[in-house]
Amino acid sequence: MPTDSEAIDLGNGTKYTRVVWGDNNEWVGINEWHLTPAGELCGGWIPFAGTSYPAGQPTWDVISRAPLTLSPSLLCRSCQHHGFIREGRWVPA
Ligand SMILES: [Zn+2]
Repeated sequence: MPTDSEAIDLGNGTKYTRVVWGDNNEWVGINEWHLTPAGELCGGWIPFAGTSYPAGQPTWDVISRAPLTLSPSLLCRSCQHHGFIREGRWVPA
């Protein structure tokens, strides 16, 4: 099973945890965390493209791992929280 690391702050009320998988602890994606407009914890699984983890679709392209930049934007299906992870920061869309 994939395992989460400690949360990393992206700013603007958004954090992520690295998700690694397999014997080599391959970094296969993140769980992204934010608050809903009502202040409840919400989040989603963001699998990276091109890893050995069978994530299915969609996946996100890793433009840079350090600082983290992903493409395209992240849109929460639950609360519509929407933005970009660019250079280790959350940029609201
Ligand atoms: Zn949400």
